[in-house]
Amino acid sequence: MTQEAFITVKGLTKRYGANFAAQNIDFALEQGAFLSLLGPSGSGKTTVLRMLAGLAEPDSGHISIGGKEIYGPKRNTPVEERGLGMVFQDYALWPHMTVAQNITFGLRLRRLSSHEIRARVQEMLDLTALTGLEHRFPFQLSGGQQQRVALARALSIRPPLLLLDEPLSSLDTGLRETMRHELLEIVQKSHMTVINVTHDQNEAMVMSDRILLLKNGNIQQFGPPAELYHKPKTAFIGAFMGAANIISGIAQNSQSDDLIIEQNGLYIHCASSEADVLAAGQFAVLCRPESIITTLSEPESKVNTFSGAVQRASFSEGRWRLTIQTPFREPLLADSAEQIQPGTHVWVTLPKDRCALVKTEAAVESAAR
Ligand code: ADP
Ligand code: MG
Repeated sequence: MTQEAFITVKGLTKRYGANFAAQNIDFALEQGAFLSLLGPSGSGKTTVLRMLAGLAEPDSGHISIGGKEIYGPKRNTPVEERGLGMVFQDYALWPHMTVAQNITFGLRLRRLSSHEIRARVQEMLDLTALTGLEHRFPFQLSGGQQQRVALARALSIRPPLLLLDEPLSSLDTGLRETMRHELLEIVQKSHMTVINVTHDQNEAMVMSDRILLLKNGNIQQFGPPAELYHKPKTAFIGAFMGAANIISGIAQNSQSDDLIIEQNGLYIHCASSEADVLAAGQFAVLCRPESIITTLSEPESKVNTFSGAVQRASFSEGRWRLTIQTPFREPLLADSAEQIQPGTHVWVTLPKDRCALVKTEAAVESAAR
């Protein structure tokens, strides 16, 4: 990392009984970055966020923010002294205060002028589409509206670090997309660093500079969205990030610099080559449906080209997603601008530079033993 890290987390671990909710979490994040903690339900996202906030005490590890240690073997800075903005699923609004009073509360503590406070509250009401509801009490609001008040309250103080636990999850699609957009604009304008919890890989990709993917309390991969999408380290990561063809087989030694995977006597050439890849035999090739080229006549290049038959064609998001039976064990998914009727004989080509070599779950598990 060229810039000095704003947040550094090392070896952060939290156990509940014998179960690791988070294990050895390490990452560093530059100031102004938007990080999403992504993973299936129960993977440890909320636990990591609560430890950063000071709402859950780690068993071990270090956390530094802005060059200051806030958690370590000899330090545990209390939540109110960490100066963070947060929206947690169970972090309730003040029930006896109106929407406007809830938003204003933190600003008054910070001794802003009443002119500044009025402007800030109006900006927050606009952002969260709550204008007109400012005099209501929390019990007079829907769950989604309450979540937006919590977001407005957290953003209003312009914290250097904003922690969000699925604050947009209960909103309907239209409002969610608008709010994603405007939230990004506000945090960028005020150079806030954000750590956002989500189980929605699309939201994580759209919003984040970095994604930290968790499973069973362990980091699977940490990097920019496109890296997790196109160069996942494992089949699990690849499948979690979006629709994927995962073709398992045996890695072969080759003379040239490309890697070859064999399944059922068929060979797939892949581009990516990590040093440890050829050590073990069982691997998989990951190729996204949108990367596969489907043609009605046999293409000239025979590299990674296979014959097949269309089984199904379903229309979604402006293109056809074909299910194609090929000599591989599992049918392939391939996207096509044109409709191709089921039963049609086709050729599919998996472009070599779009074929990533990934570890299978079996290989990951045997390495962990
Ligand atoms: P996520 O936010 O990714 O859904 P959590 O961080 O909430 O996951 O939970 C991670 C794991 O820790 C889960 O197995 C969950 O059941 C467990 N866990 C979380 N909080 C507690 C708690 N207070 N007591 C016992 N187990 C917990
Ligand atoms: Mg959670």
